[in-house]
Amino acid sequence: MAAPNIETIVSLSKRRGFVFPASDIYGGLGSSWDYGPLGVELANNIKNSWWRWVVYERDDIEGLDSAIIQNRLVWKYSGHEATFSDPLVDCRDCNARLRLDKLDVDPEDSKAMCSNCGSKNLTDPKDFNLMFRTTVGAASSDDDESALAYLRPETAQGIFTNFKNVLDTSRRKLPFGIAQIGKAFRNEVTPGNFIFRTREFEQMEIEYFCRPEDAPRVHQEWLDGFDNWIESLGISASNLKHYEQTKEELAHYSERTVDILYRFFPEREDESKQWDELMGIANRTDYDLRVHSKKPEDAEGKRINPDSTEDLSYFDPQTNERFYPYIIEPSTGVNRTLLAVMMDAYEERTNDKGEVRVILKLKPELAPIKVAVLPLAKNKPEIVEMARKIKKDLQPSMRAVYDDTGGIGKLYARQDEIGTPFCVTVDHESLEDNAVTVRDRDTWSQERITVDSLKSYLADRLNK
Ligand code: ATP
Repeated sequence: MAAPNIETIVSLSKRRGFVFPASDIYGGLGSSWDYGPLGVELANNIKNSWWRWVVYERDDIEGLDSAIIQNRLVWKYSGHEATFSDPLVDCRDCNARLRLDKLDVDPEDSKAMCSNCGSKNLTDPKDFNLMFRTTVGAASSDDDESALAYLRPETAQGIFTNFKNVLDTSRRKLPFGIAQIGKAFRNEVTPGNFIFRTREFEQMEIEYFCRPEDAPRVHQEWLDGFDNWIESLGISASNLKHYEQTKEELAHYSERTVDILYRFFPEREDESKQWDELMGIANRTDYDLRVHSKKPEDAEGKRINPDSTEDLSYFDPQTNERFYPYIIEPSTGVNRTLLAVMMDAYEERTNDKGEVRVILKLKPELAPIKVAVLPLAKNKPEIVEMARKIKKDLQPSMRAVYDDTGGIGKLYARQDEIGTPFCVTVDHESLEDNAVTVRDRDTWSQERITVDSLKSYLADRLNK
């Protein structure tokens, strides 16, 4: 089972402290969200899982953290200033501002229809650049072109401009990759669906550099690799599928892009509309390293980039060749991954009293809290003291919380709902036998474990 719709996750998130609407006390700001105490833990755990998998568990990837604000020329030569735009239309009937490429088309006359009111009375499309503009420096005024800068719309370009720095300092040889996690900003025309599409979001990107002839194979390997990684987060394969972008849909730099889609909209009757992009894996060819290099020339012998001071080609000492590597780019959104993970982990179960309980079956690796220590009687100081001590002893090796703010049934239900894999209950008997009850979130089964062996017992089960 998974969540029946995104709304279910929106209310769970707000109720329990995963995600809150940003600037809520001032009426909010369209599609801005803040990650609360549990949301920040879940997002960090997803990022750590990705980083461990790509940087630590492989031998061919280096990490990087490049700046959000770069020289404007980066975005000129990457093509973003000229082409990073969406076709914008206005509905003349209801005044909605819409992205033309996301609208349904009337099959009878092939005209796009307003997603708000269904009208076909739309304005001609205008290109709307998605980059957020800002100005840099104290002396600048808002319209000072020389001070114009952008918030990065993708983390990738900071990797390309550092290709030579990383290559030289790490003494890598092809094939190798650079990984980066960071914020990106896009002034989306139609943000929405909770954290699915926002104007500020976080990406986890790998730029993997290889020989041109190896690119198709490497592309496929990353696709298979990411299928496995996403499933390792607990997402069911039946809620995932691939989408091969058509020639018309491909970005200007891409030779092939395959999107991995997740069933974000299971409530939609039309099955084909239930899916949307979780991540994309593109073969960016040698486009990026060429456009940022000082050497390449156009047909008339003019440098295509007269501003760059560096050549980003690669010299292969074995073949004595110099060339621009091809790049395979797996690009994943932290926020969309978090949403998919929460949706897929969501389960409802009826207990023996006939009450419906929510269980978030998060993989232990991702769970914001690994164990909750609960005193059965909070008015008995010895029990409280023992529970607090157990929590303190567990804390350095796993995220543990102590909670005595309700009856035991309520405390279990709360931990189930936020995905805590284990609850440890300290009762009257614990004072006699130095043992506690460990309750499993998924099976609700309970086991008596001695306090001395508790840490290794939990560590074993959490690492399974
Ligand atoms: P879409 O078609 O949904 O606009 P895209 O193809 O433009 O996405 P990419 O440029 O491939 O997206 O970005 C890579 C990943 O970054 C996406 O797969 C997604 O997970 C994430 N992402 C992109 N835009 C947003 C956004 N506005 N909000 C949240 N995540 C985003």
